[in-house]
Order: sequence, then structure tokens, then C-alpha cells
Amino acid sequence: MTTKIMTIVDQRAAKLIPIIPLYSPAPSGLLQDTRGRLLRDLRISVTDRCNFRCTYCMPKSVFDKDYQYLPKAELLSFDDITRMTQLFAAHGVEKIRLTGGEPLLRKNLEVLIEMLAVLKTHDGKPLDIALTTNGSLLSKKAHLLKAAGLKRVTVSLDSLNEATFRAMNDVDFPVADVLSGIAAAHEAGFSSIKINMVVKKGVNDQDVVAMARHFKGSGHIVRFIEFMDVGSSNGWRMNDVVPSAEIVRMINAEMPLIEVGSNYSGEVAQRWAYADGSGEIGLISSVTQAFCSTCTRARLSTDGKLYTCLFSQSGHDLRALMRLGKSDKEIAGAIGLIWNQREDQYSEIRTEETARKKKVEMSYIGG
Ligand code: SAM
Repeated sequence: MTTKIMTIVDQRAAKLIPIIPLYSPAPSGLLQDTRGRLLRDLRISVTDRCNFRCTYCMPKSVFDKDYQYLPKAELLSFDDITRMTQLFAAHGVEKIRLTGGEPLLRKNLEVLIEMLAVLKTHDGKPLDIALTTNGSLLSKKAHLLKAAGLKRVTVSLDSLNEATFRAMNDVDFPVADVLSGIAAAHEAGFSSIKINMVVKKGVNDQDVVAMARHFKGSGHIVRFIEFMDVGSSNGWRMNDVVPSAEIVRMINAEMPLIEVGSNYSGEVAQRWAYADGSGEIGLISSVTQAFCSTCTRARLSTDGKLYTCLFSQSGHDLRALMRLGKSDKEIAGAIGLIWNQREDQYSEIRTEETARKKKVEMSYIGG
């Protein structure tokens, strides 16, 4: 008999109505939170649906045929997303990552990208627009996305071993189709494609070295991600985490590595280059080496709530302000106040106890 895990509380309902300050200075691009962290990145979940059921993210036991995804009327429209992005850009956001759920399931995503591509940062530069995808629809879409103005692509791929990958995505999706998606993205002109591999002990840690070997010298960058306690449905346990230090040790034993500095302050991944000059890998160590102190990321959920941490329990309902007809100045003021008051440092205080708290699902606030 299989055990069905239920999410007892629907964390999507936990929302805060943002306060519009009576006076707010015009956005300067230098908005800071209580720890002096700037606002530089915005991750936007364009759909809470996915065609995979990765066991660590959207397990079938919860995201089954009865799961209530957001109704269409609740989703931010492309106009809403563009308007919000403009306001965040005025406050300092320079990078946008479209994610989900599976973002390529959102119809006409390339139209949204075209709309975002004409926006400017606070200092007049084009926004850096990136996409995280499971790659399943990339073969069909890569050229359209590139033409629309998408700058960068990250493809998730947890194993090159057919049986392991099919078991992890839990919809029997083949490795070859993701590899074709990556090849299509490369052909469409995307360079330095990133490959995300979430490593879970006893599930796919035996495939780490093969993954590194496969992409070494390809120009693509594999990023090994520690299994995290996002959401409330993935049954996270500290014992299932493979520390990044262990991953470096495994790869270094066959392909010597040298640690290299970050490209910019706040970069999520620690970079390690192959000593023979044939490329680099990244390690995302949210569990063993928290990087909250440099976190400049905000998240906008599929229905327009602002989350200031991946591990948040509630979000600030910006869509409500839009629906109430609030002006750009008022909403920008509300965003400013939320960020000014931000204190998040979840990964620095994580314990088995905090991991059991009810948090919003990653598919809804954007991975
Ligand atoms: N569907 C897209 C994809 O598969 O890339 C985008 C959404 S997905 C939530 C974004 C990223 O989050 C993926 O690389 C996924 O592997 C990662 N992710 C999901 N759950 C995770 C967890 N519990 N720990 C670490 N990474 C996780």
C-alpha cells in the first residue's frame, strides 16, 4: 500500500495585503532591506502547472488528478507581469527569470518575453531575461524564445541514467528528449547553457560524475543543487542532502577542479573550473553553505503575490492592489516598503524543525 501525503493547509491562501505608504520616495534602483541587501533579481512563476512530477518538487502523492491548480482567472496576465516587472526594475531589478511550474506550458510565452525585452533597468540597460525549464518543450520552442529576446536558458536534468531520470521525473520522460532540447537551444544561439541537477542521496548521487563528464568541454555549465526543504510536500530530511563539498570531492577525484571567484556579488552558485581549462561547474549549497547574506532575489507567484524568500510562508498580494486600481506610484511604494522591511535568512537558521513548517510550494512561487 502506498502512503498518500496530504498538504493539510493550502499555503497559497496565506497572504498579506501590502500597505501603501503615505509618502514614498521615487524608486532609485537602490532599494535595500534590513540587512542592506539590494533588490536585483525577480523570479516569476508564469504557471503553477508542470508536465513532470519530480519526486522532490511536485510529488504525485500531492499533485495528483484532484490537485486544485490556480484557475485561469487568477493568473497574472502578460500585461500584469510586464507592469510589475517595470515597477521592480525601477527599484533595482536587473535580472528576470521566468519559471514555474513548467514555464513553457504557459501559452505564447514568447509574447511575454517580447514584452519584457523592451523594458529597461533603472540605469537604462536592457533587462537580462532568463528561463528555467525542464527542457521537454525546448526543441519546439528554442528558436522562438531566442527571437523574442530571451538571453539565457537553464535546463533541469537530474540524471543521464535512463531509469533514474524516468523515476525522478515520475512521468517516464526520456533523457534523450531533454538532451535534444539542450541541443536545440544551443543551435538557436544560446551560449553557456546551464544544466541544473538536484542531488538526492541514494537516488541520483551515483550519477554526479557521469553528468560532469558528459558536459565537460561542451561550453555548458552543470550546476549541482543540494536537495532543499522547499514547500511542504517533498518529505525533506537532512539525511537526504549530499553536501556540495562531497560533490566537489567526487568530481575532483576524476577531473581535477580549481575553485574560482564569483562573477558578481550575490551569485547563487560557487564556481569550480576544470584544471585542464575545459569549462566549469557550479554548486548551489543552500543547505550546507547558506547564502542569505547576499540574496537579492524576490519572487512573484503565478497569481501575483510577492515572496521575499524561497522558504516563505506567506506572500504580499500585489495583484489585489492592481485589481483595486492602485497607481504605479502606489504599488511601487508598497513594494519599496515590503523590501525595506525584509529580514529573511531562512537558510541560515534552518533546522529539521523549521523544515517542517508549512511553506509555499516552489512550483507556485517559482523555482
Ligand atoms: N519546471 C522547470 C524546471 O524543471 O526547471 C522550472 C521550475 S523548477 C521548480 C526550478 C528548479 O528548481 C529546477 O532546477 C528544479 O530541479 C529545482 N528544484 C525543485 N525542487 C527542488 C528541491 N526540493 N531542492 C532543490 N532544487 C529543487
